[in-house]
Amino acid sequence: EVRVRFAPSPTGPLHIGGVRTALYNYLLARKLGGKMLLRIEDTDQNRFVPGAEQYIQDSLAWCGIELDESPWKGGPHAPYRQSERKPMYMQYALQLIDSGHAYYAFDTPEELDAMRARLTAAKVPNPQYNAITRSQMRNSTTLPEDEVKQLLESGVPYVIRLKVPRKEEIRFNDLIRGWVVVHSSAVDDKVLMKSDGMPTYHLANIVDDHLMEITHVIRGEEWLPSAPLHVLLYRYLGWESTMPQFAHLPLLLKPDGTGKLSKRDGDRLGFPVFPLEWHGKDAETGEPTVSSGYRESGYLPDAFINFLAFLGWNPGTQQELFSMDELIEAFSIDRVSKSPARFDQHKVRWYNEQYLRAKPNAELAQYLLDALHEHGVDCTREKAEQIAGVMKERVAFPQDFWQEAQYFFQAPESYDEQVISKKWNAATANALAAFAKELPAAAPTTPDDIKTLLTQVLEREGVKLGQVMQALRVAVTGAGAGPDLMETMHILGNEEISQRILTAVE
Ligand code: GLU
Repeated sequence: EVRVRFAPSPTGPLHIGGVRTALYNYLLARKLGGKMLLRIEDTDQNRFVPGAEQYIQDSLAWCGIELDESPWKGGPHAPYRQSERKPMYMQYALQLIDSGHAYYAFDTPEELDAMRARLTAAKVPNPQYNAITRSQMRNSTTLPEDEVKQLLESGVPYVIRLKVPRKEEIRFNDLIRGWVVVHSSAVDDKVLMKSDGMPTYHLANIVDDHLMEITHVIRGEEWLPSAPLHVLLYRYLGWESTMPQFAHLPLLLKPDGTGKLSKRDGDRLGFPVFPLEWHGKDAETGEPTVSSGYRESGYLPDAFINFLAFLGWNPGTQQELFSMDELIEAFSIDRVSKSPARFDQHKVRWYNEQYLRAKPNAELAQYLLDALHEHGVDCTREKAEQIAGVMKERVAFPQDFWQEAQYFFQAPESYDEQVISKKWNAATANALAAFAKELPAAAPTTPDDIKTLLTQVLEREGVKLGQVMQALRVAVTGAGAGPDLMETMHILGNEEISQRILTAVE
């Protein structure tokens, strides 16, 4: 059985890169009839941010990413928060010590700093605690056994480090990148157990993935450098035969492609990078901050998900619109790209437009009715549906209905200057006035009838339809552009149009 996991750390709001990771895990699990679980990786207590876990839960729920096992839902491998699993990890670190693959290290922060300073002075490019430096430090590979025992008993702080071999090729097959080969000299003796008795991410992650029977690890490219270390851990713990398959997803780049899309980019570049609005604190000043979210900006979850799925994956066809079920059907890891994906704020807006206009008028009308209610404006459901119907090709967000449809509820107070200066003259004004005067009595009842009446009047006045259309639109709505004019007038009603035209003509 395929089992995948999404393993966020509650260190702040989930950004769209994280949501994409969750989405690809979800798509693969559903596609292959497997299970997806969520595990909270909260072993780094210094970076814990209150509210982050709730945010993760709310975000995934909004996106429609369903979890089979989670801290909130429980499951066969509960608990799903690493802080609650704390007692489980030490035995594995001790197992590694017993088998000679890990050791105790007693170095103080000052000693570690001095080691780094020494290496930097000797122009070692990337100072590491490794097979070479290990021999100069205070740890159980260099100290006599009884001294180690005595240090442990006296309660001196220690960490447990992985003993990375000096010369060895570490290789694994990444489902997206193919064979990855790293020399062990590039991997350092990572801390597995911290002095506070908490495991580090590396140990906890491997132990949990093993105990939770994870078959595929799908995560961001930033974790690729850790993968060789993880491979060593699986091997030394004796779990190599059930080691999950790795798939490292491509980076997300800023819209101009100049670098990694960061959590700070969103509000600076003018689009959200978070699924939901986030109320946080400025890292330096501690002042409250608000970062915009897709939900609050008026994006529909289906549109957002469709867009996100395409950031690093494509179906290999021209089709761009996919429901979640269609994504599940079409998804495969083979079609995930190795090269970075560039964020495109115009594309996500385009997706929203497509999803919005595909909705039934009755549903769209509700957006308008809610806004009207808020502003204390009366409107029948029937009229709201008609307005939604003519407006939907022109709006990108639910809130646009109210903003763009104001003239249905209020006669224009000013007119588009450009149109007035170019299209307004005595002949058009006269022709429009004639039309306005005949409207109430002729009482056309459909958009077509309105057009017929207008054509008849214009013929009599000797003016062409093309000459007055824009002027008529401005007289009725105030704006130079908008949805179908005959439909717009039909919704407004004969009396109202007549009055508006006569006001404009004066
Ligand atoms: N806790 C890690 C994170 O925050 C998980 C990385 C992984 O999936 O292994 O992204």
